[in-house]
Amino acid sequence: MIKLKKLLSEVIFPSSFTCDVCGIESFESNICPTCMKTITLNNLNVCPVCGRKTVVEEICLECKAKAPLFKKAVSPLVYEGGAAVLIAKFKNDCAYLKDYFADLIFEKLKNFPETDCIVCVPMTQKSERKRGYNQSELLAICLSERMNKPFISDALTKIKDTSEQKSLSRKEREKNLQGCFKVENRDALKGKNILLTDDVLTTGATADAICKKLLSAGAANVYLATVASVQYKPEKG
Ligand SMILES: [Zn+2]
Ligand SMILES: [Zn+2]
Repeated sequence: MIKLKKLLSEVIFPSSFTCDVCGIESFESNICPTCMKTITLNNLNVCPVCGRKTVVEEICLECKAKAPLFKKAVSPLVYEGGAAVLIAKFKNDCAYLKDYFADLIFEKLKNFPETDCIVCVPMTQKSERKRGYNQSELLAICLSERMNKPFISDALTKIKDTSEQKSLSRKEREKNLQGCFKVENRDALKGKNILLTDDVLTTGATADAICKKLLSAGAANVYLATVASVQYKPEKG
């Protein structure tokens, strides 16, 4: 907890004297004290399967109702406030945040099952060209260095762009993701315990669609690491 807090406030880019969240001058750390208060570490109760913040430490109802295809997921931040702003920036030209996020994830992985290799959530060529990079791939590369495990860059590709997922329900997301991913390197995946990287875990529909592909290609298990995850909120009634 203390280590994570320290990581969170460390000056990673001393040359940029502005807060990474709000952009105001901040000489002591890369996140100003006001924005720091809006960032929630995912350090208290979590679902032991999906890793999302819960009220009590137990498997959330969603995982109980339908176990995800990944074995276990981890995310150092709760997707809200300053963390959501940082992730939006990470996906819109602030690629440098990759090291910062990888440090946070790596710290969490110390209490996580061992994996053999890393795979990222792919983007279509068209989307990647538009953005200039794939943020999940940047995370995978940084984690590969920290974990000293290979990143399988050609594991799978995204062959069809998904329309905006945000406003869709879980069912609609699943449908939207059908036929989107294609395994390209079966040999590298066979029998492996894979760590899959992505920026945010929301419904888990994307992770599940990829897990399905990796498992059917012969992967032993898939684990998921994301920068942040949405808090689990049981549906009322
Ligand atoms: Zn700030
Ligand atoms: Zn869960």
